[in-house]
Amino acid sequence: MKKQEDKNLFAMRHSTAHLLAYAVQKLYPTTKFAIGPVIENGFYYDFEFEESLKGEEIKKIEKEMKKLKNKDVSFEQSWISIEEAKKLFKNQPYKLEIIEEIKKGEREDFGQKDKVSIYKCGEFVDLCKGPHVKSFREIGEFKLIKTAGAYWKGDEKNKMLTRIYGVAFKTKDELKEYLNFLEEAKLRDHRKLGKELDLFIINPSIGKGLPLLTPKGAVIRNEILKYEEKIEREAGFMPVWTPHIASVEIYKQTGHFQHYSDVMYAPFGIDGEDYVLKPMNCPHHYMIYKSRPRSYKDLPFRLTEPGTCYRYEKTGELSGLLRVRALTIDDSHILMTENQIEDEFKLCIGLIRKMFKAFQLNDYYVRLSLADPSDAVKYIADDATWKKAGEILEKIIKDNGLDYVKAKGEASFYGPKIDFIVQDALKRDWQMSTLQLDLFMAKRLNLTYVDKDGKTKHPVILHRGLTGSIERTMAILIEHFKGAFPVWLAPVQIKIIPIGEDQLEYANKVYQQLFSQGFRIEVDKESETMQKKIRKAQKEKVPYMIILGKQEEKDKTVSIRTRDGKQENGISLEKFAERVRKQVEEKN
Ligand SMILES: [Zn+2]
Ligand SMILES: [Zn+2]
Repeated sequence: MKKQEDKNLFAMRHSTAHLLAYAVQKLYPTTKFAIGPVIENGFYYDFEFEESLKGEEIKKIEKEMKKLKNKDVSFEQSWISIEEAKKLFKNQPYKLEIIEEIKKGEREDFGQKDKVSIYKCGEFVDLCKGPHVKSFREIGEFKLIKTAGAYWKGDEKNKMLTRIYGVAFKTKDELKEYLNFLEEAKLRDHRKLGKELDLFIINPSIGKGLPLLTPKGAVIRNEILKYEEKIEREAGFMPVWTPHIASVEIYKQTGHFQHYSDVMYAPFGIDGEDYVLKPMNCPHHYMIYKSRPRSYKDLPFRLTEPGTCYRYEKTGELSGLLRVRALTIDDSHILMTENQIEDEFKLCIGLIRKMFKAFQLNDYYVRLSLADPSDAVKYIADDATWKKAGEILEKIIKDNGLDYVKAKGEASFYGPKIDFIVQDALKRDWQMSTLQLDLFMAKRLNLTYVDKDGKTKHPVILHRGLTGSIERTMAILIEHFKGAFPVWLAPVQIKIIPIGEDQLEYANKVYQQLFSQGFRIEVDKESETMQKKIRKAQKEKVPYMIILGKQEEKDKTVSIRTRDGKQENGISLEKFAERVRKQVEEKN
């Protein structure tokens, strides 16, 4: 039943894309049409307008769509020859390009070599194979939501087109619910909140995809790293530090250079040798392992480092802290015997669970990412080892009671992995932690240990990204908490608000006492009204305000106000400090 519904919804959304193109043709007859596929919750269509659209014009297009929809036009398919199609679309360069591809047999979605499928609705004809609803009457509720620039075929060398996005649902209520969700997502957008709360900036003179953390943003990053270091130390990980560049030779040995070069930056010369910015921390850690003879007694050997890596992301895909060109992986490599695999995974899963709890991300599942055996270019070829590794991971997932889905073709080139997908406050999925089993690399780089029986053997490797990327995690947490961080992560934990100038001295005393205990604290010394200062602190999303008036000064107490408006008067400073300290420790 669900499948059938999805299919109908797909056809309806796809038909709405035709309706959009029809309306555009009516209003802007000189427009060139590219393509208009279905996407999650809706559709888009790419156009080349003669004159670029102004902000309000999508409203006009939407109105035209509604007018056309009322005419109840039906969709009619016909098959025509390549020659007929070329004639029909003679003024449409993008369609002509697709027709050429159909001719070469590359576009099964539009036709078959000598035949082209077209659909007509009213006066609008498009290259298409369907499926559609029968007529416009069956189109549900829709709304055009935004426009964006998009390169033809996603290639930056091609012309930039105008993409109009729309959403479509069966009922008004479903549409309304989704629009509310979009509104809420906009309010939570970490790029917007990052600016408002002064957490990070992106400056064109430094470069795209290279966010700079301000003092407040750096607090969040440091707190995450401090917390990770603490739980890792308790679990027996050994912190290391390694440089951000390395000789290109090592990446040729590991295979990164062959399998990963599209995201690596070009090599540069130092003293006649080629170096690269590291795209991954693995080789650096391997060399630390390899620097001494190791025995079975050294295993499991757990190295860890928040290692900043450099990867190429297309300009169009960069987004605040979410997609960047310099990312910090909270990266660990565990070298171990095969017998230790299950325990080490269990240990890491425990760390991940603890961390998600501290982040108040309580809903998550895992994806078992396997190789696609038919894609030999992408993976190290050795089917038996892949199969074995995949089976081990599936058993671990089951033994640890994790909900999971399987995905072929999502593995790393050196092994299958368990990826953790978390759901945020808006029920959106985000990929975070990753645990990867690598049965290849130790052999390839000749990493060894001497076993109990005196024989030299290769360890296996667990690659672990605790959150995967600190920058991405910050973006997710900013949106998840809507900027109102729990006390342990809040850049400013307490704001002291003296009611009048007379309380400044007492405010400074309170400040000193709390500051010396390690709290992140500020005094609002402006000569504004108390109400105004409270509103300001609320806007900054500071968890606690301490309000100091004559009474508090006389009684040597404080009044506390939380960011959601709860107030308590006449508490002792010690009691308050104790409460906040406990919240920081317990991460709630
Ligand atoms: Zn169609
Ligand atoms: Zn690694």
